[in-house]
Amino acid sequence: MTGKELWYISQAHASGHLAGDGQFTKKCSAWLEQRIGCQKALLTQSCTAALEMAAILADVQPGDEVIMPSYTFVSTANAFVLRGATPVFVDIRPDTLNIDETKIENAITPRTKVIVPVHYAGVSCEMDTIMDIARRHNLLVIEDAAQGIMSTYKGRPLGSIGHMAALSFHETKNIISGEGGALLINDARFVERAEMIREKGTNRSQFFRGQVDKYTWVDIGSSYLPGEIVAAFLWAQMEEADAINKRRLDIWANYHQWFASLEKAERVRRPTLPRECVHNAHMYYLILPSLGLRTAFIERLKARGIHTVFHYIPLHSSPRGQSIGRAHGDMTHTNNTGERLVRLPLWLGLEEQLADVIAEVVAAAQ
Ligand SMILES: *Cc1c(COP(=O)(O)O)cnc(C)c1O
Repeated sequence: MTGKELWYISQAHASGHLAGDGQFTKKCSAWLEQRIGCQKALLTQSCTAALEMAAILADVQPGDEVIMPSYTFVSTANAFVLRGATPVFVDIRPDTLNIDETKIENAITPRTKVIVPVHYAGVSCEMDTIMDIARRHNLLVIEDAAQGIMSTYKGRPLGSIGHMAALSFHETKNIISGEGGALLINDARFVERAEMIREKGTNRSQFFRGQVDKYTWVDIGSSYLPGEIVAAFLWAQMEEADAINKRRLDIWANYHQWFASLEKAERVRRPTLPRECVHNAHMYYLILPSLGLRTAFIERLKARGIHTVFHYIPLHSSPRGQSIGRAHGDMTHTNNTGERLVRLPLWLGLEEQLADVIAEVVAAAQ
């Protein structure tokens, strides 16, 4: 926590409005609209919920295909699979670990409807290329920006580039509310329908604004909005977003410096940042030479009381992904990363001395 979370929660309680879309939700969405520069920001209960809304808004139908990386969280795929679509997995780039934009066009078929770039570790995908492909093939782009808040691509905030984007405020992310997320809309044609889908398929938002005199069932939808207690917590975090970002970047830069010599000695590979990307220090990872060395590394650090973790099991090799998805082409970099990447502790409360100790132990363990 950054300090004011419990105070704002008590204010939400005192206001007598604990359901969604109260004063704290409004502050949070206005902040997102202003900072990210999207047309509309709608708070949701999770990034997963925001992706599900985006899939409905994109009118994804059974048999449609959605292009995405395999090296991602299950929600990227599930949101579309829930609408009957087939996830088509494309390999990642070995440098940023983001979807390889040069392999997307080959994966497009007449059934393709959406491309979902995932900004891994808060480092942007090659968005100019992806938007150009989408334009030429008449596809929608839905950014999975779960890890991307406050990052930019060529000066543009992540979440402001695709037709829609999804953010996460899960406690493992940079700005948090326990569970939480937001749907960002950059294409005005989706705004009105998004409000209805989020409010159980009713026009309740219009009713509260006095635009209609009663509210009723107008569309499919679900209950995707968070209550005010969650928004109050989130607002305290948003107020401190710059400080949070700076602190994380400091820890990240410190790690990065520590491991420069290890990389020179070819014992690890450090994260790569393309020149056009400003990141948010969502994650510090190392890529080790092999699965065996990574397993030994995690064990050695565990014995020293340091918790390091690997990340995604590629979706194309998971039981569900194998039965329902399709890998397009070679998945070498996805498979390699799945076996060799390890994440180091990085969180707001991590003290400087402790980060140094971790770095020292990691360097010795390698
Ligand atoms: C965390 C994450 C999600 C899911 O976010 P929730 O808010 O937990 O639903 C989706 N995609 C990616 C890439 C993530 O990192």
